[in-house]
Amino acid sequence: PARTRFAPSPTGYLHLGSLRTALFNYLLARRTGGQFLLRIEDTDQKRTIPGAEQRLYDDLQWAGLNWDEGPVVGGPYGPYRQSERTALYQSHANDLISNGHAYRCFCSAERLDTMARHRSQAGLPPGYDRKCGDIPAEESEDRASKGEAHIVRLKVEEYPMFNDLVYGKTGQNRTHNKKLDFIDRVYDDPVLIKSDGHPTYHLANVVDDHCMKITHVIRGTEWMPSTPMHMALYNAFKWTPPSFGHVPLLVDQSGQKLSKRNADIDLSSFKDQQGVFPSTLVNFSALLGWSHSQKSDVLSLKELEQIFNLKITRGNTVVAFEKLWFLQKAHAQRFAASGGPEFDEMVKRVSSVVEESHHLDKLNMILRGRTLSEYIAPLIRADAKSYTDAKEFVQRNATFFTTTLDRAPYKPASPTSPSSPEVPIQALHTAAAALTLVPSTHWDIETHRFSIKSYDGSDSVVLPTSESETPTAAITTDKVFKKELYHYLRWALSASAPGPGIPETMTILGREETLRRMQDAKA
Ligand code: GLU
Repeated sequence: PARTRFAPSPTGYLHLGSLRTALFNYLLARRTGGQFLLRIEDTDQKRTIPGAEQRLYDDLQWAGLNWDEGPVVGGPYGPYRQSERTALYQSHANDLISNGHAYRCFCSAERLDTMARHRSQAGLPPGYDRKCGDIPAEESEDRASKGEAHIVRLKVEEYPMFNDLVYGKTGQNRTHNKKLDFIDRVYDDPVLIKSDGHPTYHLANVVDDHCMKITHVIRGTEWMPSTPMHMALYNAFKWTPPSFGHVPLLVDQSGQKLSKRNADIDLSSFKDQQGVFPSTLVNFSALLGWSHSQKSDVLSLKELEQIFNLKITRGNTVVAFEKLWFLQKAHAQRFAASGGPEFDEMVKRVSSVVEESHHLDKLNMILRGRTLSEYIAPLIRADAKSYTDAKEFVQRNATFFTTTLDRAPYKPASPTSPSSPEVPIQALHTAAAALTLVPSTHWDIETHRFSIKSYDGSDSVVLPTSESETPTAAITTDKVFKKELYHYLRWALSASAPGPGIPETMTILGREETLRRMQDAKA
């Protein structure tokens, strides 16, 4: 069983990339029957955004990624907020000082600045000359206890290679060239404890992953350059490191990095503005750089939990938003078929768009005695295959929400159709007369399917009985007429707008409105 963690810094909100990281960690834990932890990495208090932490919780919960240990829920290895663990990091740094793997550095900020400037002017990467590396232990203790400002550095001789779960053997295998002088001699000797006593990301991250018994670290490739340093830290502590898997960067279609600045990828834009279902977004994120062998790409979180593995592609992942909308429709269809809270949510969203755009009296005209959900639920069921978001749905089905249908002059379905415009009108009026024979108690999809199929152009319709499930031969009329009839009806009922089928449309509009629209049709 894998113990994984998602370790966001509350310096921003959840976005597509971080959601994917959280998801992969969550799925690996679920798939292996392990635990998924949430840890807040807030060591950099200056960059912390107020409210970000709460929003992270809300967003993760919205997506269904519930954590087994972490803030809010607690757990045996807490606290799970790094700002509450400072003493732990300090004592670990002291352990490294005692065993010679770390040292206090008393260099002034000016000295370090000058060194950095020289190095950068010489085109060299940043580095430290290890001036404080050889200060005797007692002197170092003494200066520190007298309150002299210092930081703590890791004494790194070697950056170990590591075996990445995605990228394979990785690392620069860089060792230091001890012969070089002030400018050229480079020891990274990364900082572990800052001058204010707070740990750096590297120290806190490694100490926590070890203390929280993390077995697998799945994170973005932007952290890959840090991993050799983390390995060096694990070695210094004589700890077994977890397995690391770095997931590729998300880029747009032109190859540019998707960034937090890009509003499109902010979770709230999907969730609140665009009305994307959590299951859609989770499904979409899962497919970013991960491949599976299922027949369909349409997968719920539960399904993903059962099939997830670490078959993650290397190289940048191009995010194509067409796929998001494809998945949104597929999930809408699933919800419409199975009902449940997601379906209710769709009805609620569509209802609120309709309510916002109609006056009450007009709304009452449309509803004709039904409640808004009674009216909208069957419409969504009939048209979920094209559902992307509530606004668009209402726009596409505008003909359902109007009392004054604006029809263009009738255009025949085919060149052989009746040329005189009176013919279809006459036929519609006759059909309307026939339909008045259908009582409101039978005004449903089943009846209309049957009666339209069997309709022969006369002024009466055949209603299905419990025995007759399909129209009999006697009442099946000629194909040209049938095609024309559907064409008339679509024109009369929805001004020829695409949408649900005719029996569905008639049912959703209701008896009164259907007959009115047919009788109203004018050449
Ligand atoms: N706090 C880091 C972040 O914000 C965590 C990186 C990691 O997973 O190690 O992404």
